Amino acid sequence: MTDFYASGLAPYASDPLLSRGRRVAEALAPTRNDFQRDRDRIVHSSAFRRLVYKTQVFLNHEGDLFRTRLTHSLEVAQLARSMARSLNLHEDLVEAIALAHDLGHTPFGHAGQDALNHCMREFGGFEHNLQSLRVVDFLEERYALFDGLNLTFETREGILKHCGLAQARELDAREPAGLGARFINGTQPSLEAQLCNLADEIAYNAHDIDDGVRSGLLSMEQLRANVPWFEHYCSKTLALYPQIQGRRWLFETIRLMLSEQVYDVIETTRAGLLPLGLQSAAEVRSFPEALVAFSVPMQEASLALKQFLSANLYRHPRVLQTTDYAKEIIRDLFLAYVHTPTEMPESFHARHDRERAVADYIAGMTDRFAAKEHHRLSAWSPLKAGHGLATGAQEGWGVDRSLQDPNPSSGLSSGPSSGSSFGPSFGSGPRPESGGATKGDTP
Ligand code: MG
Repeated sequence: MTDFYASGLAPYASDPLLSRGRRVAEALAPTRNDFQRDRDRIVHSSAFRRLVYKTQVFLNHEGDLFRTRLTHSLEVAQLARSMARSLNLHEDLVEAIALAHDLGHTPFGHAGQDALNHCMREFGGFEHNLQSLRVVDFLEERYALFDGLNLTFETREGILKHCGLAQARELDAREPAGLGARFINGTQPSLEAQLCNLADEIAYNAHDIDDGVRSGLLSMEQLRANVPWFEHYCSKTLALYPQIQGRRWLFETIRLMLSEQVYDVIETTRAGLLPLGLQSAAEVRSFPEALVAFSVPMQEASLALKQFLSANLYRHPRVLQTTDYAKEIIRDLFLAYVHTPTEMPESFHARHDRERAVADYIAGMTDRFAAKEHHRLSAWSPLKAGHGLATGAQEGWGVDRSLQDPNPSSGLSSGPSSGSSFGPSFGSGPRPESGGATKGDTP
């Protein structure tokens, strides 16, 4: 079988023909290399399709133009492929990793993850990165011969970006010298995995500026005054196009920022790799530090932007308001399913690891399915009485307020005052006609 990219690959790139293989051995596909096949399995998975209805930062129904986990993953894949091609790394592998990297995210973004982690604190916790791995290793049910997607070691390695020592030891016990090993030994993943990590950071920094301004929670003036790096690109854009204004100015500024970061990673990485003369992906893994990197000034600039976004967007009072609702929903669902597991589909309620089964079920939900389930279970009096499902969150459930909003897709022009979609409308539940979800509906 020929590999289209193999001819142009650097010696330190990952080569599918040298893959450490799959957990269940399979014959090679006649027309696709193993990383292509991984990518295709990811695209066809249910977890991938659910990303379209999962929150990135802004809740799914707050506007049609905000990023979702799906569009975020596509942007990460685009950036990673573009850098991989320049660096002669394997494009199919970076695409597979990028498209799968967020499969384990809960509904409602980081608020959902924090809430589920809190619910699971006595049962091993919850971490979206490890959950992405659980999705591709166990939770997808599509193939006759194995659970999960049976991806190659290299794709799985890229998906598991972080891992605590205790969890790494658990992984290592199940899979000796496998995915947990690098967190125990302090070694590195492939260059393709390292690249996806940076592509993720570049993507969310850029699109969160765009979405933040679109939502009205951030303004260009505020960014210019507080983030010198942003101001630098704003002025540069203005010098190039003196007539530019409004959203075109913002987009051109973001575009310039994106390009400069991509060029910076390519140049810095290339310059770092050159004198080392590495001859294999194995040498990359045993090198003491990550080799795909920003230059020091770019790293500092990116960090400053991240800190700004964290303080002014992710912790904006109106974002936090929605966070509280999200936490309530996740906590209520967790209590309800642990109390009455038969409210979950059989494949989950039949499991003996009850709390983990509940966490797996909830983590797989889209925002709207979680809302629908919350509405269904809130109306069910035994649970309400027994576990005190949050009454605050019940108000408004079952009424999709976005249906009443004449202009649900907020554009750049919507300022905070028009953003009625924050807070109260977070309570938007299912559409009235679908209010009574079928018991055991699979998310
Ligand atoms: Mg991501």
